[in-house]
Amino acid sequence: MKTVKTATMGGRIVEPGSAMKFETGDWRSHKPVLERDMCIDCLTCWIYCPDDSVLVKDGKMGGFRYTHCKGCGICARACPKKAITMVEEDE
Ligand code: SF4
Ligand code: SF4
Repeated sequence: MKTVKTATMGGRIVEPGSAMKFETGDWRSHKPVLERDMCIDCLTCWIYCPDDSVLVKDGKMGGFRYTHCKGCGICARACPKKAITMVEEDE
């Protein structure tokens, strides 16, 4: 079960902000695309992604959470195998 930390401010119960509540993928002009054959599942892209938008399945690179990916391209730049390509959103 997921636990959300809360605090009381001025008599109101508040919780920390989280980008996970907003589908920030709408902001994107480019999206990352994985070349599965080139990927070695090192998960460097997962470590570097600032938006928790790289999916991991059974310890392996599992694609992207496009509803939250902002298309910053950090994953593509960090990938040691050049297995991620940034393409225009409507490609
Ligand atoms: S950084 Fe590149 S090689 Fe490593 S898991 Fe991500 S896509 Fe695959
Ligand atoms: S493009 Fe940016 S936000 Fe999207 S998966 Fe890569 S690092 Fe994360």
